[in-house]
Amino acid sequence: MNTSPKNAPSGVSKAEPNTPSALLPTYARAELAFERGSGAWLTSTDGRRYLDFAAGIAVNVAGHAHPHLVQALTEQAGKLWHVSNVYRIPEGERLAKRLTDLTFADVVFFTNSGAEALECAIKMARKYHAANGNPERYRLITFEGAFHGRTLATIAAGGQKKYLEGFGPPVEGFDQVPFGDHKALEAAIGPETAGILIEPVQGEGGVRPVPPQCLRGLRELCDKHGILLVLDEVQSGVGRSGKLFAHEWSGVTPDIMAVAKGIGGGFPMGACLATREAGKGMVAGTHGSTYGGNPLAMAVGNAVLDVITAPGFLENVQQMSLRLSQRLAELKDRFPGVIAEVRGSGLLMGLKMQVPNTEFVAALRNEGLLTVGAGDNVVRLLPPLIIGEDEVRTATEAIERAAAAFAQKSSNAA
Ligand SMILES: *Cc1c(COP(=O)(O)O)cnc(C)c1O
Repeated sequence: MNTSPKNAPSGVSKAEPNTPSALLPTYARAELAFERGSGAWLTSTDGRRYLDFAAGIAVNVAGHAHPHLVQALTEQAGKLWHVSNVYRIPEGERLAKRLTDLTFADVVFFTNSGAEALECAIKMARKYHAANGNPERYRLITFEGAFHGRTLATIAAGGQKKYLEGFGPPVEGFDQVPFGDHKALEAAIGPETAGILIEPVQGEGGVRPVPPQCLRGLRELCDKHGILLVLDEVQSGVGRSGKLFAHEWSGVTPDIMAVAKGIGGGFPMGACLATREAGKGMVAGTHGSTYGGNPLAMAVGNAVLDVITAPGFLENVQQMSLRLSQRLAELKDRFPGVIAEVRGSGLLMGLKMQVPNTEFVAALRNEGLLTVGAGDNVVRLLPPLIIGEDEVRTATEAIERAAAAFAQKSSNAA
């Protein structure tokens, strides 16, 4: 056996273009790597500073290297990282109690990711009806443009061809209807329907908020048919919308809710929240996770919640959202050939582009601003929720420069 090293791989810190990587190439990665972060700012391995309006895709709600989170993690790291869920985990019980005190929910199951939170939500919705003596009620209605994760069940729930193709028969039990089509939705409810699964703001699908009156309509429909309202707040939750959870803007509550991304502030973590009634089928032995809710994750989760629930935190999100959306609306008016529409909720904002969103994301990156693309040719702005006026100004100035350059290019071409 040949034990000599293959072509010595160069480290990420060198970030040489076209260096073959040992990572499975499932991402089209930018030639950019980071060394450190502080607040809303990142420093790349080649020493450049970037304003981070991607936040690890809506994850770093408290920014990078937040002192309270760093302290919570390092203190816990010296005490206890992991024990099994076959024992009580006091930090997890504390976090679950705090989350239920703050929301509609009575019970929480902790996971390590958004897709796992959805898996729990989907299983719970099915089990609820089984526990009621209606095991035939296992189907969930979902919406076009949805994104619920990359596991086999969640790609079936999302229903996007590009994510399903080549992976065999999709998991059974999801019926997709067009986004915003109330008639199609009502027609899709049948004797096998367990519930409706929806993101209050479609994230990956292109930052499309569900109007509050529509969420209220969904709640009424669920009550009328005895089915469950299951919300995917993986991206819209944990302060992102300017409320702790986006559905709070509508005044109605779900039966089950999947949460992740922001909840760990960068520590891999998710949660499935539910009313005691909706969760009644999930008794001992029905579900599990080796890592979910371990002491290290729970210490960080509690610290993130300290930050999010501090007085004035969500007000800042709402104020910065207003400021940002006003400035973006001005830019849309000035560059109508570049930006078609500004949409979103809180600090989950989207620019629907007239130019290819990938090119605009790359142009913004060259201007020192990190953003992420989404479906429907949208550029997503997902800053850490701790941003202030300076960051809003710096970001909108970068967007202005990039938009001006695109406008210039197209006028030259004309
Ligand atoms: C990111 C996301 C998921 C999947 O979360 P993972 O942690 O990547 O598994 C599910 N739903 C929504 C709405 C998301 O934005």
